[in-house]
Amino acid sequence: MLMLKADCPICDGVVTLPKDAEESEIISCPECKTRLVVTSLKKKNAILEEAPKIEEDWGE
Ligand SMILES: [Zn+2]
Repeated sequence: MLMLKADCPICDGVVTLPKDAEESEIISCPECKTRLVVTSLKKKNAILEEAPKIEEDWGE
């Protein structure tokens, strides 16, 4: 089974992507908890960027 890995642009940690990850999917870095968006996805190489800050209602 192919596991996709990418470097976190914030902390340089290794982020493992789910095998069904898709472009523009949001993933959290396990190291720094930054929300990352998959901007490019190729067979063995994924590119991550920090996701834009979104106002979300976590409460209520
Ligand atoms: Zn990170």
